[in-house]
Amino acid sequence: METNLKTLSADEFALYIVDAGLPKYRAKQLLHWIYEKHAASIQDITELSKDLRKKLSENAYIGSLSPIERLKSKDGTEKFLFGLEDNQTIESVLIPDEDRLTLCISSQVGCAMGCRFCLTGKLGLKRNLLPHEIFDQIISVSRSIKPKVITNIVLMGMGEPLANFENVCVALRRIVDLMKISPRKITLSTSGIAPKILELPKNAPMVNLAISLNATTDAVRDYIMPVNKTYPLRNLLDACRRFPLPSRRRIFFEYVLLKGVNDSEEDAKRLVKLLKGIPLKLNLIPLNPFEGCAFEKPADADVLRFQEILTAAKFTTLIRKSKGQDILAACGQLKAKYK
Ligand code: SAH
Ligand code: SF4
Repeated sequence: METNLKTLSADEFALYIVDAGLPKYRAKQLLHWIYEKHAASIQDITELSKDLRKKLSENAYIGSLSPIERLKSKDGTEKFLFGLEDNQTIESVLIPDEDRLTLCISSQVGCAMGCRFCLTGKLGLKRNLLPHEIFDQIISVSRSIKPKVITNIVLMGMGEPLANFENVCVALRRIVDLMKISPRKITLSTSGIAPKILELPKNAPMVNLAISLNATTDAVRDYIMPVNKTYPLRNLLDACRRFPLPSRRRIFFEYVLLKGVNDSEEDAKRLVKLLKGIPLKLNLIPLNPFEGCAFEKPADADVLRFQEILTAAKFTTLIRKSKGQDILAACGQLKAKYK
C-alpha cells in the first residue's frame, strides 16, 4: 500500500524518511514543500533530485482533494466543492473582506446535530472527515488562488467540529505547526458540546472559540438545537466562563435571528443577563432561509432594535451580512452533493 504523506504527523514523517533510507533533514524539507508550498505531488518537489523523487514515489504519494466545482458569487465570495476518496463531497467557502481572506472549512460530511434552521443539519451525518481531509481544504484552495493568500480560517462549514474531536485537534495542530498559520487567525465554531469545549485547549492550539447560541431560554434552544437537551444553557455558559481565555481575547457568540422565535426585546434583554461578565463579541446573523425551512428571517428594523439593546449594554455587537447567497454559500446553506 502506498502511503499518503499527509496522513503522517511530523514525528511519524521523520521516522518514515529515515526508514526510507534518507537523511533526517529531508523530512523538514519535504514538510515545508507539502504544507507551506502546497506541492501537489512528489514530482513537484523540484528541490529533490529526479532519482530521489522517483525513489520516494515508489511507496508514497501526496494526496489531494479532487476539485469538482468552483462557484463565484456576485459579492466576491467563492464556493469550492471537493470530492473525497470514497466519493463523498464537501464544501469550503472563501470570503474576501477588506484586508482579510477567510476560508470557511468543513469538519464532517453532513452533521448529526439536527439544528432545525440549518440545511446541513437536515441532511444528517454521513461521516467524520479525517485530519488531512480537513486541512487539505486550505491547501487546495491556497493552490488555486495563488498569488493571493488565505489570512484566516473558520471551522464553520459543514459539520460540528467538536463531534469529530480527535481528527479536528490533529488537523488544528498541522495547520498551526506545519502550515504556520497563527492560532489567533483560526476560529472554531460549536453548537455547544460543553465538555469538549473545555477539552479543546488541552488537545489543540489555542484557537478562537465561537459559540452558536441562538436562543436565550432552554425551551426555545431545546426546540431549535437538540444538543441543548444534553448540554443546556447553564452548562454551556458555565463551560464558556471556565474556558481559559488568553488575555485580550474574547469568545465569539453567534446568534441566528429567527422571526418570532428568538428575536424579541425580552430575548435581547435575557441575552445581556446570560452573557454578563464573559469577554465577548456578538455576531447577529439574520436567518438565511432555504427551501423547506420552517423559519423566517426578521425584518431589518427588528434586527436593528435587537442590536441596540445589546449595544446599550456595552456588548460589541455586529450584524453579519450573509455573503454568497446566490451560490448557496451563506451560513447554514452548505449541503454539497451526496451520492
Ligand atoms: N456546527 C458548528 C459550525 C458550523 S455552523 C456550529 O453550529 O457552530 C456555522 C454557523 O452557521 C453557526 O453559527 C450556525 O448557527 C449558523 N447557521 C446555520 N444555519 C443557518 C441559517 N440557515 N442561517 C444563518 N445562519 C445559520
Ligand atoms: Fe450542525 Fe452547526 Fe448546522 Fe447545527 S448549525 S446542524 S451543529 S452544522
